[in-house]
Amino acid sequence: MEWGWTQTARSRQGRAMLALLALLIGCWPGGALAAAVQSVRVADGRVIVRFDAPVADAASLVAADTRQILIQVTGATPGSGGRAAGVVGRIRQRRSSGGARIALDLLRPAVVGDAGFEAGGRELRLELQPASAATFTAAGEAGWSRYFRFSFGRRSTYRVVQNVPPASPPPPLPRVRGDGDRPLVVIDAGHGGVDPGAINPVTGLREKDVTLRIAKAIRDTLLASGRVRVALTRDDDRYLVLRERFGIARRLHADLFISIHCDSTAGEDASGASVYTLSEVASDKEAARLAARENRADVIGGLDLGGEGADVRSILIDLTQRDTMNQSAAFAQLLGREARPLIATRPVFHRMASLMVLKAPDLPSILFETGYISNPAEAGFLNSAEGRNRIAESVTRAVEVHFARRMAAR
Ligand code: ZN
Repeated sequence: MEWGWTQTARSRQGRAMLALLALLIGCWPGGALAAAVQSVRVADGRVIVRFDAPVADAASLVAADTRQILIQVTGATPGSGGRAAGVVGRIRQRRSSGGARIALDLLRPAVVGDAGFEAGGRELRLELQPASAATFTAAGEAGWSRYFRFSFGRRSTYRVVQNVPPASPPPPLPRVRGDGDRPLVVIDAGHGGVDPGAINPVTGLREKDVTLRIAKAIRDTLLASGRVRVALTRDDDRYLVLRERFGIARRLHADLFISIHCDSTAGEDASGASVYTLSEVASDKEAARLAARENRADVIGGLDLGGEGADVRSILIDLTQRDTMNQSAAFAQLLGREARPLIATRPVFHRMASLMVLKAPDLPSILFETGYISNPAEAGFLNSAEGRNRIAESVTRAVEVHFARRMAAR
């Protein structure tokens, strides 16, 4: 690991929500794009962004958990890349929130010092200041800093910097049920609220409703076993970004995280359950497609609420995650063994993909695709009491063996 970094894994949904608020109250206009980013370069401890037409509104953010500085330029179209130097290892550009989003990957902790527009708004300059890891993390909590260009008459240009505080604190923790110091299993009902997940084209059955019913059935069966404590990330129809989901589990110090989903394809024929664990590289094309689909849960109405959703393509895995990944894979195989006698499973049961919801570095996590909601017969099964009970029974048996093995290993 690079010098000077400490482990931080603060979720950024608060700031994403702020972006949404900004969008709603109209101070972050999308609209026609007037300027294009011509170049981005780092020289003499400064980032210099050049545009082909004047720009009047930009913002910067320290993204502590991805070790980046993000620059958002309202109403500009992104160019490609940029010339990195100094503390900046790589520069990427993409379209985001109706403007250009420039991401600077940092080699060492740094924060933005003096910043503002030059050259009549055709240039944005941001001073980069080396920082301690603590200062870097604190800057990450401060939210977006915005820079405006105001022209008075023909001559003067003034810079105004306004710090935008981060939005709402993380959601309240759900209730934990079960006794004492037993291991805690967090069940995550996939999708919810404005994100329905997959929908059966004929019956209109929605993934978010099916996953919630299945999650509750698993909770009840697990609690009846008396071996574990259980919490649900949501027990009603609400929207949670992907980071919030495992964030809740981490804040509760959970021992196992199980995200419940239903698969879908264009045709009606595909059937069977499968389980996914985290990997940088998808185990096959289908796993890659599934990851793209599930990770899209953070993008609602074109706005990326989860932060850097487009960068999820390559999920970088920390060394500390290796042991967690092994435990996740062991649980996935166990679940396959216990599920096969009870529910229809796919020939290749365990697959790997870069799924954002499995990204907790220190918490064994699986995503359980319980079956195909696009298949009429299987959709009926998934939405029946019989189906739910069989799925819950598979999970409960696997959970019991998983924790019995871990106790024995101690
Ligand atoms: Zn899903």
